[in-house]
Amino acid sequence: MSIKITKECISCGACEPECPNNAIFESKKSDFNKNRSNYKDTYYIVSEKCTECIGFYDEPQCVSICPVNCCVPDNI
Ligand code: SF4
Ligand code: SF4
Repeated sequence: MSIKITKECISCGACEPECPNNAIFESKKSDFNKNRSNYKDTYYIVSEKCTECIGFYDEPQCVSICPVNCCVPDNI
């Protein structure tokens, strides 16, 4: 399980420095999302790196800090 960022992201950048696993990136800096049909210029989480903050914090930091509540569990 990991957290994902939905298209509601306003790219405020608040979550990026909070992630203990450096799993959050700004899409503008990477080609990661460019070929996806739902591409939008938002921040994104590399699911392989996200541990839901287990071992670091009691709750996912990106979920806690996001002002628009667009960090949600990725259950797929
Ligand atoms: S849940 Fe924690 S590890 Fe996963 S992206 Fe958010 S801050 Fe990073
Ligand atoms: S804190 Fe929320 S709105 Fe801000 S960049 Fe992260 S996911 Fe996007």
